[in-house]
Amino acid sequence: MPKPTLSKEEVKAMLLVVADRIIENEPMLSEADRNLGDGDHGLGMKRGMEAVKEKLAGEVESIEKAFSNTGMAMMSSMGGASGAIFGTLWRNGGKALAGREVFDAQALADLIKAGLDGVMARGGAKPGDKTMIDALHPAMLKAQEVVGQPLPEAITAVAQAATDGREASKAMIATMGRAKTLGEQSVGHPDAGACSVVVIFDAMREYVLA
Ligand code: ADP
Ligand code: MG
Repeated sequence: MPKPTLSKEEVKAMLLVVADRIIENEPMLSEADRNLGDGDHGLGMKRGMEAVKEKLAGEVESIEKAFSNTGMAMMSSMGGASGAIFGTLWRNGGKALAGREVFDAQALADLIKAGLDGVMARGGAKPGDKTMIDALHPAMLKAQEVVGQPLPEAITAVAQAATDGREASKAMIATMGRAKTLGEQSVGHPDAGACSVVVIFDAMREYVLA
């Protein structure tokens, strides 16, 4: 049964599905980073998500903490560009949900907006630089558009926007991160971090729709 909103326990369960899907997709994420970077993105994300599973074991204090603890676990376990970037996404996104008792389409929009703002402030990249922002920014725009809808419809639209963003990243020339040195040779491949963003939103959709 699709879930119209999530409780804090359900948010935790959703984050555990996100962790499992990232871990399962390690080979695909590593392959994406092999094309444009140093090939370690999948392993880093997998290590981060294993730390998340440990951190989330036990009782959930709040919706805010479920997300922000996810970010803290990634930051302290991953290292590399993406430890800071994906850690900031969840931590800042979580903090924006302080005091929320339910996770609905409005919370989804606020999570993504605050997370994206944090990532952009931290890493200095913007849309079009061929980073994870190219999946996250269209997801943010779509989430703002669908705030009035039930969560299943909202997360479905957001996951599709992230996928479209990942596909659009193929045509971009990298101007940030390791892929920057490839210049025009970076064209044709999707950004690895954008691939992770798609796995994350697909896993959230899977949980909400199940
Ligand atoms: P590293 O670059 O340290 O090897 P990873 O391979 O784990 O780290 O992650 C690479 C991903 O990090 C890239 O595909 C890109 O999406 C993301 N990334 C790198 N730099 C930035 C940045 N400044 N802002 C946003 N995302 C970034
Ligand atoms: Mg890498």
